[in-house]
Amino acid sequence: MAVKDIMDALRSETLQDLGLSENLAQLVKDIKLIGTELDVLLYLPKAGLEDVLRAKVEKAVAGLPDVDRVKVRFAQGSPQQSKPQQGPQIPVGQPAFAKRKVPGVRHLIAVGSGKGGVGKSTVSANLALALSKLGYKVGLLDADIYGPSIPTLLGLKGERATVNERNKIVPVEKFGIKVLSIGFMLPSEDTPVIWRGPMLMKALTQFLFDVEWGELDYLILDLPPGTGDVQLTLAQNVDISGAIVVTTPQDVALADVKKATSMFKEVQIPVLGVIENMAYFVCPETGNRYYIFGKGKTAEFASAYGLKILGSIPIDPVVAEKSDEGEPVVVSAPESEVSKAFIGIAKLVAQELS
Ligand code: ADP
Repeated sequence: MAVKDIMDALRSETLQDLGLSENLAQLVKDIKLIGTELDVLLYLPKAGLEDVLRAKVEKAVAGLPDVDRVKVRFAQGSPQQSKPQQGPQIPVGQPAFAKRKVPGVRHLIAVGSGKGGVGKSTVSANLALALSKLGYKVGLLDADIYGPSIPTLLGLKGERATVNERNKIVPVEKFGIKVLSIGFMLPSEDTPVIWRGPMLMKALTQFLFDVEWGELDYLILDLPPGTGDVQLTLAQNVDISGAIVVTTPQDVALADVKKATSMFKEVQIPVLGVIENMAYFVCPETGNRYYIFGKGKTAEFASAYGLKILGSIPIDPVVAEKSDEGEPVVVSAPESEVSKAFIGIAKLVAQELS
């Protein structure tokens, strides 16, 4: 979706009923589309028109694909002063501020998914461990505030974050990688996370920047599923080398992962590729592969979005069992097909970023 399509839609909305000769596009001061959220800054021609203008913007863009949410803000001044016909001042997807780099970290890799439950955290943890096995210095940051599962996956339940004399958070070391989870901050597993907005962002920012990460080749960032405020704000503010999207080959998961992919593209984070999890089941007796959720759907999605498939991971009950026991498969069953798939993915990721 180009900004032109959005401006065309706004242009078709006249304001005659409000006694104004302009159309809606002529009131636009700034406009940006980040992921599926459209942020419009409008000149306010007359006080008191805020609600009706907001409703007009919502109506004008309602039929556009890729716009799920609309935020309308108002600016002082008039369109004539700033020649609105020249178009928006912030191009779509172009953040208006510099992205911050995590000190000491060569590559920050964000792992996202459209839906929960597709194995994003399992993939993040095993990818981190696979990169570490290849000899890289690796960190893993669990930013999945809605369900931090890294502590369980790595046998770190009940672990607490500590702060050193330099007032930096000290990550926990496990299986050779440095780990920090938002779960280390919660009083207990059953505590619902009620952080919202600025407080949550402050916590996440601290988890990235106020940490004694040391020198790392890769920091894997396990994002919450979906394309909400957390993902957007991180994507806009933090220097991320590349993103990986995780999906299962099911229609429901693929529909949502498309949105996640579009979000990364809009905020100009290169998508390194897609990881297809639970791709097939290998019958232990016969060795035959069964494509439980269907075959070829992930490839179709990848080719439509110009993405590389970094690897396909089979569904294996041992993965779930061992994860629950705090022994990720790359550590507990290094010779398994799943582990080999993760090592292959790690090699490709390292290659993509080298
Ligand atoms: P998400 O982070 O996307 O919510 P999780 O990584 O927590 O998903 O995985 C959800 C569940 O699926 C967990 O119980 C996990 O052990 C299981 N799981 C993930 N990948 C596989 C796999 N390849 N084979 C079997 N079980 C898996």
